[in-house]
Amino acid sequence: MKALQPQVIQELKERKGRPGSPVLSLYLNLDPANPVNLRGGYKVSLDAMLKDLESQIKDENELRHFQEDAEWARRKAEFHIAKGRSLVLFSDVSESFFFEEDLPIRLANQVWFGESPYLRPLLEARNEYERYGVVLADREKARFFLISMGEIDEISDIFQEPPVKHRSAAGSDHMRSQMVFQRRAAKWSEEFLKNVSDTLHDIMVEYDIDRVILGGPEEVTAELQRLLPKAVVARVVDRLRMPASAKTSEVFEVAFPIIEKIEREQQSTLVQDLITTAHKSKATSVKAVLGFDATLDAINQGRVYRLVYPTGLSMNGYHCTSCDVLLDHSPSDGRCPYCSNTLLELEDIVWPASERALDMGGKIEEIRSAEAISMLAGVGQIGAYLR
Ligand SMILES: [Zn+2]
Repeated sequence: MKALQPQVIQELKERKGRPGSPVLSLYLNLDPANPVNLRGGYKVSLDAMLKDLESQIKDENELRHFQEDAEWARRKAEFHIAKGRSLVLFSDVSESFFFEEDLPIRLANQVWFGESPYLRPLLEARNEYERYGVVLADREKARFFLISMGEIDEISDIFQEPPVKHRSAAGSDHMRSQMVFQRRAAKWSEEFLKNVSDTLHDIMVEYDIDRVILGGPEEVTAELQRLLPKAVVARVVDRLRMPASAKTSEVFEVAFPIIEKIEREQQSTLVQDLITTAHKSKATSVKAVLGFDATLDAINQGRVYRLVYPTGLSMNGYHCTSCDVLLDHSPSDGRCPYCSNTLLELEDIVWPASERALDMGGKIEEIRSAEAISMLAGVGQIGAYLR
């Protein structure tokens, strides 16, 4: 997930392109949850977006640059094996600049051709998902991990041998030397953990970490927690017993349930707030809506700011290919109530509705918590905050 690392975003931001040699930026939604994508539907969307943009370019030199970048992007999409839900591509073939990354989240399809890579969707995605820092420490080494969007990365590690080794001393000196050793070892260990604590603070700032999990032997995490600066302590959500040598995948397995629990609580709060806001809305200023009818109405009006629905929700409905409205039921004559065009029946209307919300710059919240899902079930399953 390098595309969401601050240094990578910084580098992309600061990249100096050659004037007259623009960069193609492409965000392509290839989520396998959309059946159309399983049949390679995203290639069709890509082609349409590229052709549309190409038709707007008048300058011959620019057009030539665009065509070679577009060709590269088409080839990438053609042979791409999706590892995520969205594909991000930046390219300037003439400058040998290429960037390719799968993201585990859904982003709206979009394509840009300009002086620099178009980063806004990346920056927004970064802001939207909480980042968890995990430190795994014993008295000799510490490792740092970043978990966000359901993925883990090890960010760096410090490895230090203690400067004092235990050695057996003979005779009457034994007790004394034992005490000296213990004092020195304790001192060393505290210094080491202070170091870890400082590094953790730096990493928290550097990676914009929202919450922290401490892992390691119980007495180490307890001591570490005491040593942490206030700003870091306030973000500690849990301490985990585990060996400092644990594999990255093991760290993820132990830490992720804690993150999921926090997310479940956040989702319940969100859904509760959505319901309260919708119920409190006055006819003159509607801030939130519930149920398919009202939500699709808001989608059709381009007013959805945040669409909320249970993950996997599917519902059949209708689409007017002429004026593009989405409806949950059809009038008895099967015609669009706005333009009288014949309505097209859709197996699922939730996907195009969420696509539309993303396209209008809105957010989508797929609710996974059972508690929040049952709250939604009581109020029409789907809802939205409005602009
Ligand atoms: Zn219509």
